[in-house]
Amino acid sequence: MKVNPVGIERTELLHKGKANNVWATDDPRFLELEASDRISAGNGAKTDVISGKGEANNLISMAIFSQLEEKGIPTHYVGPGSNAASKIVLKAEPILLEVIGRFFATGSYVKRYECQNMLEFDGVYIEYTYKSDNAGDPVIPNDAIVALGILTKRELGYIEYLTEQVAYTIRDFFAECDGKLIDFKIEFGRLPNGQIVVIDEISPDTCRILDAKTGESLDKDRFRKDMGNVAEAYHEMAKRVAGITEG
Ligand code: 5GP
Repeated sequence: MKVNPVGIERTELLHKGKANNVWATDDPRFLELEASDRISAGNGAKTDVISGKGEANNLISMAIFSQLEEKGIPTHYVGPGSNAASKIVLKAEPILLEVIGRFFATGSYVKRYECQNMLEFDGVYIEYTYKSDNAGDPVIPNDAIVALGILTKRELGYIEYLTEQVAYTIRDFFAECDGKLIDFKIEFGRLPNGQIVVIDEISPDTCRILDAKTGESLDKDRFRKDMGNVAEAYHEMAKRVAGITEG
């Protein structure tokens, strides 16, 4: 069995998700998250396999989580996992929200409000969706998040603050890679000591990024919208990220 650089060995596969696998490890405090080559859109209505996507996403996600940690934004990231598509994370209880940050209006926002595509927001616009495949991840108002006991008012304020910090950190990160961040989705969880941290992944599966020069999509929209060159986009982003992180 392979041993990763932080000395934690993965043991059994706990969960095979739409895009990622979750492994137990020999230390109950940690999990291994393995990004797969599976891709899906429309709540699983459309699926495919993109060769090398898992490794590309993991490289990007680890670089971003490392940068968040450097900036003092708490995450569950620990270090690289047993293969190039895996990372070791602290076990956290997921909070059932998807937190969306938008610099420009597009995607579901434009459909919902019939506004101009790529309308630029003043700063980052934050909204929440209730994470449920059954319910179709509906937008959830702040009052409902509190009324349903998902977060206290104070925790919601803290998550909003962290999301703003994440937004500007990843916008600068992608700008360094000649990318323009349009919007993103992040998730949060609670560590056993109650601390709220950023969890999961931040990658071209969870962000819209355009090439700063050509305006071409370098993310999952290429798959959602049948634009072609899906693998090429993930590999291009990974190459750019490796370029800035390796010196
Ligand atoms: P929209 O709400 O416009 O569809 O998406 C806004 C942003 O959040 C996009 O960057 C999109 O990739 C991300 N996002 C929203 N929901 C999901 C989701 O269920 N899965 C993933 N991977 N990304 C999502």
